[in-house]
Amino acid sequence: MPYKDPEVAKQKAAERRTRGNNREIAKQRSKEWYEKNKKYALERQQTYYIENKDERLAYCRKWEKTESGKVSRAKSNRKMYYKHHDRSLCRDRFKKAIKKGWLVRKPCEVEGCVDVAQGHHEDYSKPYEVRWLCDTHHKEIEGKLL
Ligand SMILES: [Zn+2]
Repeated sequence: MPYKDPEVAKQKAAERRTRGNNREIAKQRSKEWYEKNKKYALERQQTYYIENKDERLAYCRKWEKTESGKVSRAKSNRKMYYKHHDRSLCRDRFKKAIKKGWLVRKPCEVEGCVDVAQGHHEDYSKPYEVRWLCDTHHKEIEGKLL
């Protein structure tokens, strides 16, 4: 929107021009604005987050398939592997047990559910003690635990 006051318009135009040269100042300013309007900013972020959920996910999935997406994904996976090393080792042992046939996959423990189950670990120090839950019910339970 053009500014009615030519002086203000001039000033704003100058600001726009210098913004590129003064990245740090612009950064500082936006930080200050954020501090002042934190509540509003967070609300706006949340609304955007919820309203654009599908688009966001679609964009993420698309990006994950690109080269840089794959690299980033692998990097993040590796980071999580070492960050939660107990969980990672537990899952590795569990996966190996399934592969070798030491553990047999059971159906989802929720009554009436016929979906393929995953092993849900309640204690990561016991890789072979799992509850069998399908993807949906697993997420439900993990969500409750958080
Ligand atoms: Zn289920």
